Amino acid sequence: MTFKITTIGWWGAYPDANEASSGYLIKSEDYSVLIDCGSGVLSRLQNYIALQDLDAVVLSHYHWDHVADIGCLQYAARIAMDLGRRENPLPIYGHAEDDNLKGLTYLQYSQGHAIDTRTPLRLGNLSFRFGRNVHPDPCFSMRVEKSNRTFVYIADTEYTDNLIEIARGADLLLCESSLYDEYQGNRYSHACPFARIMEDNLAVRLIQAGIRTANTHQREQAEKFGMNIPDFSVSPDEVVSGLEDPLYISLDLDVLDPAFAPGVSHYEPGGLSTRQVLDIIHRIDVRIVGADIVEYNPSRDINGLTAMTAAKFVKEIGSMMINNP
Ligand SMILES: [Zn+2]
Repeated sequence: MTFKITTIGWWGAYPDANEASSGYLIKSEDYSVLIDCGSGVLSRLQNYIALQDLDAVVLSHYHWDHVADIGCLQYAARIAMDLGRRENPLPIYGHAEDDNLKGLTYLQYSQGHAIDTRTPLRLGNLSFRFGRNVHPDPCFSMRVEKSNRTFVYIADTEYTDNLIEIARGADLLLCESSLYDEYQGNRYSHACPFARIMEDNLAVRLIQAGIRTANTHQREQAEKFGMNIPDFSVSPDEVVSGLEDPLYISLDLDVLDPAFAPGVSHYEPGGLSTRQVLDIIHRIDVRIVGADIVEYNPSRDINGLTAMTAAKFVKEIGSMMINNP
């Protein structure tokens, strides 16, 4: 076994009835770590582990929805030690950038330890590294590794480039997020990820097939980043010619003509047919390392036609990935 992650709670601010705010249990063969300990976590945690068997706690930051149950967990450690069920004090790891670290030490029953971005942490056979987030109070994302498996927990943050480093190559990225729209209009909206990717040199080359609404600004951007936007006379073979390994595919369903995919938000006649998109996918002969299929709008779909087409693309891209790992 590498390790197993159990979500104990995920609510922000406060938990709903019979729920818990942030708390995640990581269990490997011989070590169990609780990441964050929000309101309601202590009660629900006991569905998965006896409290005296918990080896350590790691905290991303000290907002109540991530630490509210720490005090009662310390009492549990006290009772377990007094009754002889637990031998050693419970280690609790948190940052030392304000006074809260002191509160993690409770008599001889729990011991606070500082974490920072420079110092890797070893807990049993699990390796931890920390990244600095952007949050109203200091907060850290964390990367947990064991046997070539990587789990990354983002905790609370705005977007920061630090996330790229801490999350690189993760097998599982746990990213708590909200649907508030106060971030609309910023540089990181859904409309501009490729500009950021190209600016930061995160991709060598960008090919956008099926574009039929490019405005002057987009044409300028395409030129600036040396993008390839093949026109509709180009064959599938030419679209994929010269692709380099590794390849990431982002498939917007509105690349299809509305006749083939009515379940999208933006209707732009003159798009590709389902067959043309499949032909392009099938001619890819480099390793596909990731893909997304976006723009599906179920409220405009007719008889699930677009959903079925999207599922077909998932299947076809998936089989290409399996066949050329
Ligand atoms: Zn917070």
